[in-house]
Amino acid sequence: MPAKRKKEAKPLVYRYNCPCCNEEMVIAENPYCKVCKISFGRCANCGALIMEETLAVCHRCGQPLK
Ligand SMILES: [Zn+2]
Ligand SMILES: [Zn+2]
Repeated sequence: MPAKRKKEAKPLVYRYNCPCCNEEMVIAENPYCKVCKISFGRCANCGALIMEETLAVCHRCGQPLK
């Protein structure tokens, strides 16, 4: 990963509950449920949490996910 640093953004920290077990997840760079041991992706464009692995476009900004 390129070490690209932007000054304006604070670390993105949100609270989410795991869709599988409904426990509160650890939300950091890589959202992670420590109960289910699964992690979730993020939209590279807007930072939205991507819950479904099958999702092809971001539900928030509509950008294609890789
Ligand atoms: Zn879980
Ligand atoms: Zn997005």
